Amino acid sequence: MSILPITVCGDKILRKKAAKVTEIDDKIIKIISDMFETMRNASGIGLAANQIGVNRQIFVVDISPVEGYEKYKPLALINPKIISKSEETSSFEEGCLSIPDLRADIIRPKGIYIQYFDANMKEHTIEADDLLARVMQHEFDHLQGVLFIDYLDEESQKRYKKHLSKIKKRKLEINYPISPNPDYLLIK
Ligand code: ZN
Repeated sequence: MSILPITVCGDKILRKKAAKVTEIDDKIIKIISDMFETMRNASGIGLAANQIGVNRQIFVVDISPVEGYEKYKPLALINPKIISKSEETSSFEEGCLSIPDLRADIIRPKGIYIQYFDANMKEHTIEADDLLARVMQHEFDHLQGVLFIDYLDEESQKRYKKHLSKIKKRKLEINYPISPNPDYLLIK
């Protein structure tokens, strides 16, 4: 397993819709284990493949480090599809490893049904609620090229402009490795 650099806002791959995984080979298995290690090294609870420069529909989640969620198992989701969302919404302060040092309250559906394939290409459909649903929606968005800051109103976007430009210019001190430039790609 290796810790890989994390792509940051401004990187082109974060704005691309990720390609479907068609076959699970050793490369994909290695990517998944690297994603877990990279996420944990950065103290994250979710990570999408394009955050390590891989243009594939894969994300990992592990919310067990969060108090009250210790029993939740880590999951790798391949080709995920959100089947339905609850009408009930909730607000939660989100952050993102690709947008360091920025947190903002985002409103999202409180629960979802999500379909995905595991590393054995076995299909699953699960119901996720609260924090798990939150993380999964955030990571699912990544695979569509969407970042949580896209949900902010114009005023907040303006307020964070300077901070974002600092990240883009790599002038922020970040305690985990980040991509060297906006064109960074590990696997196209
Ligand atoms: Zn994120």
